[in-house]
Amino acid sequence: MFLKNTLTGRLEKFEPLEPNVVRMYVCGPTVYGLIHVGNARPMIVFDALRRYFEYRNYRVIMVQNFTDIDDKIINRANEWGVDFEEVAETFIQEYWRDASALGIRAANFTPKTSDFVPEIIDAIEQLIRKGHAYVVDGDVYFDVKSFPKYGELSHRSLDEMIAGARVEVSEKKRFALDFALWKAAKPKEPAWNSPWGKGRPGWHIECTIMSTKLLGSTLDIHAGGEDLIFPHHENEKAQSEALTGKPFVRYWLHNALVRISGDKMSKSLGNIFVLREALKKFGADGLKLYFLSKHYRSPIDFSIESLEANAKAARRVLETFKRFESKFSLIPVPKNEPWMNEQRQKFIEALDNDFNTPEAIAQIFELVGFLNRFMDESNEEGALRAYHLLRREFCPVLGLFEAGTRSEETDVDPLLRLILDVRKELRERKLYDLADSIRNRLKSLGIEVRDTREGSTYSFHGEV
Ligand SMILES: [Zn+2]
Repeated sequence: MFLKNTLTGRLEKFEPLEPNVVRMYVCGPTVYGLIHVGNARPMIVFDALRRYFEYRNYRVIMVQNFTDIDDKIINRANEWGVDFEEVAETFIQEYWRDASALGIRAANFTPKTSDFVPEIIDAIEQLIRKGHAYVVDGDVYFDVKSFPKYGELSHRSLDEMIAGARVEVSEKKRFALDFALWKAAKPKEPAWNSPWGKGRPGWHIECTIMSTKLLGSTLDIHAGGEDLIFPHHENEKAQSEALTGKPFVRYWLHNALVRISGDKMSKSLGNIFVLREALKKFGADGLKLYFLSKHYRSPIDFSIESLEANAKAARRVLETFKRFESKFSLIPVPKNEPWMNEQRQKFIEALDNDFNTPEAIAQIFELVGFLNRFMDESNEEGALRAYHLLRREFCPVLGLFEAGTRSEETDVDPLLRLILDVRKELRERKLYDLADSIRNRLKSLGIEVRDTREGSTYSFHGEV
């Protein structure tokens, strides 16, 4: 597989550090509000990339964090008159509702910044000892000039970076690009004890700590939106490499942004389309087709018309599946034929080429066309093969059409009832951690379990 690495600007053959294992980190949301359509792009793309690695027999260990210590969260907590944890917890739950409605599998680890404060403090102390950071009035800053490779990821000179956006201005800093590792406590802010007095971690250090603690000093893949390249990822890289002396990331992958009349969609610009609304209007598969039919490195101009067209295309595919499924009560696995291997080869070639999902999607539509034609011609064997390739192989790799048609969902009901009965038994025996782990694993499969007084219920992808 070849992937375009932001660090080198080149298409590179993917070779993980450990054979057949992919260690992957994706920057997650700052949890102070509902996520929007722009946030959904990296979720959909990197979830599909993870599934593709698994399809190619890699074991993927994926981490996606939640930023729960941040100005915007603190402001909201003060508005609501509650602790920052309450705001964060509220929007983490809302995130899971949306992710599950979108059919995004949970990462293997989903840590929060506040879970890692002691580790963050320890790393900052090491950076100070190594001469990469300095203390001013209870703040700690990273000394950018102590790290000569700074700018390597964003391919910009120091001057260009200073002119760039999002550089915090402060008289305390020795140099304009130095950034806060630790911020001294201000009134009405959550604070932790540290060797430099009470305070809280800066933004960038959290991802360094959560990724390296959970995945090791060198990650195979670090992914996120391209708006994170500078300063966030540049800073993460500098801190991590200054700390460990090892390369932080082998392949940096960045998705292009969703734009609205030239601007990026963002909460701070106030031009967002909330994901939940989009899910109601266009469905999970409509949204996924919309994003995956563009290459992840190409910007997308937000368009309701295009979303509607994709939602319609998704409905047509589901109609075709239903038409086929109505003929069989049990769908047999077909015997392989050479043309199926050719299809697989084509599919893999597309995705091996810098994860070219538009080509893979085009192939899926071509196969849907075959499936319809085979059915028109009453070619049952051919239809079965096309259906199998689509439904059991290609679509799941891209996370498409998993919610399925109604008939399939009811088929799993007895099995789910059994799982929920076992879980009830575990809860009665107070084995809550096992019960929770069952719920979380079902959630990662897109099945939401709700505990009510009358017992537990389940729904697919968060539907009610
Ligand atoms: Zn991050």
